[in-house]
Parts: sequence; C-alpha cells; structure tokens
Amino acid sequence: MRVVMKFGGTSVGSAERLAGVAEIVRAQVKRGNQVIVVLSAMSGVTNTLLAALKESANGNIAKLLQTRDELLKKHLDVINALVRDETARQNLTTTTTDALDRFEDLCSSIYVLGEITPRATDAVGSLGERLLVPIATQAFNDAGLRAQWVAANELIMTDDNFVAASPFMDETRVQARAKLLPILENGSVAVTTGFIGATKKGILTTLGRGGSDYTATIIGAALDADEVQIWTDVNGVMTTDPRIVPEALTLSEISYGEAAELSYFGAKVIHPKTILPVAEKNTPIRILNSFEPTHPGTLIVRDPKSNGSTIRGITAIRNVALVTVEGRGMQGVPGIAARTFSAVAREKINVLMISQSSSEQNICLLVELASAPRAVQVLQAEFRGEMAAQNIEHVWVQDQIAIIAVVGSAMKKTPGVAARVFGALANDNINIIAIAQGSSEYNLSLVVNESEADNAVRAIHRSIVKK
Ligand code: ASP
Ligand code: MG
Repeated sequence: MRVVMKFGGTSVGSAERLAGVAEIVRAQVKRGNQVIVVLSAMSGVTNTLLAALKESANGNIAKLLQTRDELLKKHLDVINALVRDETARQNLTTTTTDALDRFEDLCSSIYVLGEITPRATDAVGSLGERLLVPIATQAFNDAGLRAQWVAANELIMTDDNFVAASPFMDETRVQARAKLLPILENGSVAVTTGFIGATKKGILTTLGRGGSDYTATIIGAALDADEVQIWTDVNGVMTTDPRIVPEALTLSEISYGEAAELSYFGAKVIHPKTILPVAEKNTPIRILNSFEPTHPGTLIVRDPKSNGSTIRGITAIRNVALVTVEGRGMQGVPGIAARTFSAVAREKINVLMISQSSSEQNICLLVELASAPRAVQVLQAEFRGEMAAQNIEHVWVQDQIAIIAVVGSAMKKTPGVAARVFGALANDNINIIAIAQGSSEYNLSLVVNESEADNAVRAIHRSIVKK
C-alpha cells in the first residue's frame, strides 16, 4: 500500500511529540507500506510568524527580534533533543539560523515599507513548515527510519492567488511523481512540507490556513495513494463538540459529502478543501489521533456503512450576524434578491446562509460578525431608492446569534428529520429565528440566540444522534 500520513501542529509540537510521530511512521513502514509524510509547522508557529509580520508593518521591531529568538530556541531544542549525528546537528543549526535571519530581513523590509502584501504573507507564513521538515527528517533517520525530504513548493504547482492558492493538479502530478516516486522506490520515507506550493514561476504560495490537510490529499491524488491519514489531536470526527456534549461520539465512517459539510460548518477537524482531490478517486481518508494512536478514528469514504442514524453531526457556528432586508413593497418585485447578493458580493462579503420567507417580505443572510456593518452599509446604499419610496423599510442586523448546522446524508431519504429537530428544540423552549436547507439535503441549518446555542446542540444531540 501507498499511504500519505499528515501530522498537524500539535502532533509535532515538541521533540517528544516528534519522537512519537517517528514511531507511528515506523509502524506503517513495518507493514511494508510506502509512506509519504506531510508535516505542519510546530503548533503556534504559523500564528507567531504572522503576528510578527503584522507587528513589523506597524513599526514594532522589538516583537520581530523576540519572535526570531523564540523560534530559534524552539527549533534548536528539537535539533538538540533528537538529532544525534554531530555533523547533521551542526548543519541543521546553521540552516535554521540562516532561515530565521532571512525571516528577520524580510520583516525588516516590511517594517520599512509599512505594508504587507499577500505574497510576503506567504513567504513568512510558510516558514514554520520549511524550518521543521529538514529537522524532522533527520530525527526520523536518527530514529532508524530511512527518510528523505522535498519541499512542497517543488511538488505542488498553484495559481498565484497568494494566501489561498489552488493547485494545478496535472502539473502537480508530474512534479510530485518525478520527485517522490524515486524516494519511495528506494525504500525510503518521503517527507514534505504541508501548506505550501509555488506558482509556475516558482514563487512561494500557501493553500490557506490549516492547509496541510489539503497538501496531504493533493499529494495522495497525485501519487495514486491507497489511503490518506490525517493525524490530529482528537479521536476522529465526532458527532458534536465534546466540550459542549460530553456524550459526543466518534463517527466511525462518514461520506465525503458529510465530511465536507462538517468541516465547513465548524467541526474543523479537517480543512474544508481536503476532500476534493481524493473524493473523485475514491481514496479513503482516515482521521486519527497521534495522542492515542490505537484509536480507530474516523474513516471517510464514498459509501460509509450506516450507523443507524440519519444525522451524523451537529455543530454551532458563532460570531455570525443575521442581516435582514425587509419591506412590504418587496413582494413580487423581481431582482431584489439578485441585487442583495450582488451588493454584498461586490464587497467580498461571504454569505454563510440565506433564507427568504415565501411572503417575500424579507430576505435574511447570515454573514460573519465582523462584516455585518459593511453589509448593512452596502445594502442601504443599494436600496436607497426603494427605502425612500418605503418599498423596503429596514435593513438591519441581529448579532448574538449562532447557526446550528445538522449534517447527515441520510436526511435526504428520510422524512421527519426536520420535525424531530424542531421538536427537540421546542421541548427545550428554544426559539428558532431562521431556517435553511440546501437542496443537497445534507445540511439543515437553523439560527438561534447565541445564549441558547449550547442548549440547542445538546437538545438535538440527545434526541437524534445514535452511534
Ligand atoms: N501551519 C499552517 C497553519 O497553521 C498549516 C497547517 O497547520 O495546516 O495554518
Ligand atoms: Mg494546523
């Protein structure tokens, strides 16, 4: 078998954790599998780098120097703990120090310019992965594995949409196979950086925050892997957040579609785009816990075994606001919805959910809390004429609300699920402010007061989720 194993930030957060990763990888190698390891930056490193970049642009050079020292120590600690080979240790100490010196130079020029470009954000934000991978690879070798690394900017070709680049799969396939297959055929473990790609011209890009999962499935698809494993710090995808519902269960199998919905809607176990590259090829993804490697985790496949429950997961999405465009004169007037969405789209405001009552007297859209004031502004400007004529009476925002998303592909064929969800909420006296269901029927979304969000999740979980 050919297996891609991705380890997230907490799984590589210290020398001790990395030593554990080496053991997990060794177990795969012992089974006779070909292994490609994708690593994130050590936990907290990407945030620290990006914060230092921002501070540099704001003129705070002290923060930059502090970050450089902090990151140098963090990585040298790993080198000193895990790398036994003297020459390798010296070489890694030099390359790590040099890389952090370049980081300092880059941030210093941002300090002078006082402005951050997306391209600079990627050059700096990608450093955590670039620092760790050579160190981890040497640590694997010192732990008795045969390993060799390649930076993913040599593997994944992307567009130049910095900060959220998309891969060109055909080019990536050619490059990744050319670089990685010889390593695998030579009996070594191939190690690469998550999160990173490069444009056709070789300029570094990133796939978006949390993008290492996406790296794993891009590489998995390119190499026709038999399985992609995402090693994280929880026991797979759960029915809901165990901090809210202690009885939450691990889902043993879910479909690609459900995994995508659950990741968009706050279950945050995987990056939302992770599913795309492998779903077409029907390659299974396993979500596993590096802190509890024997736990079976969650398997994501095309046709999961039924677990007898129509609903797979429930999540609450907070920090959202409901923007309503309302007026009696809206009824029967074509184009109001189109203008509403065009106006917010022009402002690049992301709409999370939409609902319109059939009386057509209002349109509601859910947006991120931070963009709500701008959404109101553009809508008021868009409908100035209608508002003057009182065909549209108000454009207003309700904050302190949450979206409760109920996900499960079996909802499609099962009548009565919505009734049970609403019944559960009614029993607990929870008021529903708005409702939406996409025609995929994978997802039923409702809006409730934020103060009732946890109770809503508990009520629905109690009444409908079975293992
Ligand atoms: N290190 C990157 C981030 O923190 C990518 C990842 O962790 O997947 O966003
Ligand atoms: Mg991460």
